Parts: sequence; structure tokens; C-alpha cells
Amino acid sequence: MYRTHTCGELRIEHVGQRVSLSGWVQKGRDLGGMTFVDLRDRYGITQLAFNEEWNTSLLADARKLGREFVIAIEGEVIERSSKNKQIPTGEVEIKVDKLSVLNSSALPPFTIEDETDGGEELRMKYRYLDIRRKPVRDNLLLRSKVNLEVRKYLTDLGFVDVETPFLIKSTPEGARDFVVPSRMHNGEFYALPQSPQTFKQLLMIGGMDKYFQIVKCFRDEDLRADRQPEFTQIDCEMAFVEQEDILQTFEGLLKHLLKEVKGVEVGDIPRMTYDEAMEKYGNDKPDIRFGMEFLNMNSLVKDKGFKVFDAAESVLAINVPGCATYTRKQLDALTNWVRRPQIGMQGLVYCKYNEDGSTKSSIDKFYNEEQRVEWMKAAGAEKGDLLLILAGEDKITRKAMSELRLYMGETLGLRNPEVFAPLWVLDFPLLEWDEETERYHAMHHPFTSPKPEDLAKIDSDPGNVKANAYDLVMNGNEIGGGSIRIHDRDLQKRMFNLLGFSDEEAQKQFGFLMSAFEYGAPPHGGVAFGFDRLVALLGGDEVIRDYIAFPKNNAGRDVMIDSPATISGEQLTELSLAVTEA
Ligand code: ASP
Repeated sequence: MYRTHTCGELRIEHVGQRVSLSGWVQKGRDLGGMTFVDLRDRYGITQLAFNEEWNTSLLADARKLGREFVIAIEGEVIERSSKNKQIPTGEVEIKVDKLSVLNSSALPPFTIEDETDGGEELRMKYRYLDIRRKPVRDNLLLRSKVNLEVRKYLTDLGFVDVETPFLIKSTPEGARDFVVPSRMHNGEFYALPQSPQTFKQLLMIGGMDKYFQIVKCFRDEDLRADRQPEFTQIDCEMAFVEQEDILQTFEGLLKHLLKEVKGVEVGDIPRMTYDEAMEKYGNDKPDIRFGMEFLNMNSLVKDKGFKVFDAAESVLAINVPGCATYTRKQLDALTNWVRRPQIGMQGLVYCKYNEDGSTKSSIDKFYNEEQRVEWMKAAGAEKGDLLLILAGEDKITRKAMSELRLYMGETLGLRNPEVFAPLWVLDFPLLEWDEETERYHAMHHPFTSPKPEDLAKIDSDPGNVKANAYDLVMNGNEIGGGSIRIHDRDLQKRMFNLLGFSDEEAQKQFGFLMSAFEYGAPPHGGVAFGFDRLVALLGGDEVIRDYIAFPKNNAGRDVMIDSPATISGEQLTELSLAVTEA
């Protein structure tokens, strides 16, 4: 028998018992007449003791063990003389009387401990070794727990887990498709799903009523930090629902997860319209763990002789609490920060609200004390606060201010990962103008229903039509999004037209859905959560890579199996992909 217990299990109550354990050698400590070995498995670490007084040849064998050797031992649980309070097994050790080496190990390329010396790329290359480390292992265990809790919650509500195919035809979610050439059908391709969107709608037409799936999705997007070409969604759809039903159901899901996984109870999730989010935070996924809402200063500062503000479309400010004491150096650093190309502002104006009630700004030449105090009042500032002001074209300034706000929140420690502040963002615009293609694109996807009260505007003023679309945001991250769908054939057809599809193109790409709409499609709607991101946030992190067993790197490569890779000429020929010389 390899083991009677795991390496995380033995406690003081087990003293005197005979046990066998198996695992990996984390490290050994050789103290001359005795040697201690830390034995690790998924469950923890148990100390093994070897002593020349007990058995000299066993001690000699123990000394030969290298890091990551796989061993099995037998022995007696004894009380440790010097206890380690840091680990649950720290009060005991094993007096080993039998040792077998099950496998040796090459020297690992990085230390397999909580704090490792291995760089990211190296750890990705040897991911199976990285997974032996507690932080990575704990992330995967958390992921498994969240997965189970999602299933429990949804299954209790009557949701059915249905698998949808991976080899399909394009689903438009705004990215490029990954395609798979068909060998049997020369010159034809499958596309991998960007999401199961159309299938889940067809399931509603099929009467499944409540569907969910924890499912892989594939999007061939340009590389952005912390994006994975394949990722996992909790994908859901319900029939005979209005937006409110969806919000209630999935608010419940998030609350359930926070409670079961983190032991955190949150109250009702606040709601905000998209317009309000953009106005107050310059961002459709605001982090509401802290304030610093935008103040539009246009009416306070224009026409007072300061050209920069007069020329600006928007003058925006945030009030940073307690920072009036910022030094010249700190303010210069902030100015440089907003001037970086990623932020792209020309400069930063500040105004300090000193403790004595006086003010001091970088543009005192143009605005007197009385005016400056008025700004402070408008911003709801208190003595000791610092106003940071950016000016320029509205869209750019809003975006920059949003970044600055997050940066200040981070700097002031207001973005505590153990605090969870979810938020619903509602009433997204239906369409988004794309400068490049000079066309409207669906902001969510083409199956999203316009708000009925805005239907009249759909031809005359499409840019101002709002959708029955919503996002669930947490701590400045979008964790989920969805919409009430169009279930009427004619409206769906109009929508495709609006998005620039001719009738033939719409028919060719989505004829199956339009036909299905002819056979009694119920009203329906749904949502999908980014499972990787959700788990990362619950883990107190924002990097999703650390919560995926075998992730791709930032360049979309799997550096462990070395993929993507070329394929043989034969395969290319078989797939009719071989390039023939002209
Ligand atoms: N399919 C959508 C997405 O992947 C989610 C939804 O509308 O349910 O974002």
C-alpha cells in the first residue's frame, strides 16, 4: 500500500500510529547524525526523521534523496521536539523505518516552494512542476470549488447542463474565429465557438427553459495582456424572462459564490446605467470600492482667461482624499504619469485644499482663492484633499481620468482584493460606431434586443438606441454580461441589415436561427460569466493565467507543448492547404 494517510493529515492525535506516506521530496536538512526530509503531496507537507541511532543505513539512503524524488515510506508518528506552528502537521514527524524510492528526479529548473526563484516563462514551460507549488495548486482547487458551487446553485434552480458543439460555424462575438479545416469536405472549414450564443438560443426554442454550461470559448483576438485565446465561460440562458428575472437569478449566483467560497455576505447589488457609469467614472466597469467620482468643471472654469481650459471639450476633476500634502516631487511624478503615451494627456492641473482652509493650485494665475474654494465645494472636498484636473477632448479625457482614478485608488490602498464590490451596469447602447469600418457594430452581439421604447429610433437615430443588455462588474472587472434577445424574425432581420449584412449574407450565416424563429420562439435572455476572471477575483488576484492549469503565454503560445506548431506536408495536402508553386 502506497499510503495510509496523505502528507497533510497527521496530527498530534496520531502519535504512536504506524503509517505509510508517499510523495515528493521538497527538501532535506542534513544535521550530521540526523536528517530531516519534507515530504510533499497535494494535501500538505509532513516531516520525515532519520537518525543514526535508529538506523544508519536508512540515514545514508535518506541523505541521497534529491529534490523532487518520489518516495514511499513507512514509520511511526512521533511528537516533534521543536514544533512548527506554521503548518498543520507541524507538531509531528515520522520516525521512518522503511524507505523506497519510487522514482528519481532531475534537478528541477526552479525551486518548488511557495516563493520560487523561477521566472514566469520558465514556470510555464514546466507547468507540471509549477502545479506542485502550493500557490498554483490552491488556485486550481479554488477553481474546482467555484465550479462545483456554480453547478449546485444553478442545478437547484432547475438549470440543465447541456453540451453544445465545438466544431461549428462563426458566432459573432466581436473577435475573429479560430478555424479548423475539414479533411472530408475539401476547402471547407469549421469555426470554433466564440461562445455557444446561437446554440443556447436554439435550446430555448427547443423548450429546455433553463440552460447552463461551463464551457470553453475560443477567440482569435489581437494580443492583450491577460487574455487567453481559449477561456471558460459560465454560459446561461432562460426562457420566458425579462431583464429583472435574469438580474435576480444571477445576482443570487454571485452572492452564493461569495458566501460559499469566501464567507462574505454582500447585500443587494447596486445598479447603475451605462450613461451614469461613463459620466461618473469614465468607464463601463467602474471599481466602486472607493469614491473619487468625476466632477465636470466646465461651468466653473471656462471663460476665465485660461486658454487650455477654454479650448477643452471637458475639464474633469477627481477629489483625492487626504493628499493635499503631496510634495512638488509627487505631483511632478503624477504629471509624468498622465503624460505617458498609454494615458496620453498633455499635463495635469492640481489644486490643494490645505488644512487651514486655503487653496493652492498650479494655475493660481488664472483663478482666485474664491473660485478655487468654489471648486472644492463642488467636488465635495474636505480640508486636506487634493483635486486632480485633466482637460481635453471628452472621450480621451474621460478615459485618462478613469485610469488616473484607478491609479490613485491603488496608490492609496483603496483597492483591497479582499473587499468585493459588485455592480450591475444596465442599459448599454445597442450599437457602437466603428471609425475604421465606418459602420455600426453591435455593442454586445447582434442577437441583443433593443429596448422596446427605443424601437422607433432604430432607423432615424440608431446610435441612441439602448439595449436590454447588462454587465455584472466586480472590483473594476467585467465578470459577466448578457442581454434579452430578439426572438422575432423580422426584428432580427432588421438588426442584421442595420449591421451591414445583406439579406443573402444574413441568410447564409444565420439562416438556421432565423428559420428557428419561425417555429414559436419564446421570449428569452441570458448571460455569460468569464469563469477564469471570476475565479481569479475570488482568489484575490486579477491575473487569470494563474488560475488556469495549462495557460498560454501573452503571445498566445503554449510554451510547454510548443504550440501553435507547423504540421507536415502530408497533413497539409490532406487538408487541401498545401501551397502549390505557381
Ligand atoms: N454570448 C455572450 C458573450 O459571450 C453572453 C450572452 O449574451 O449571454 O459575451
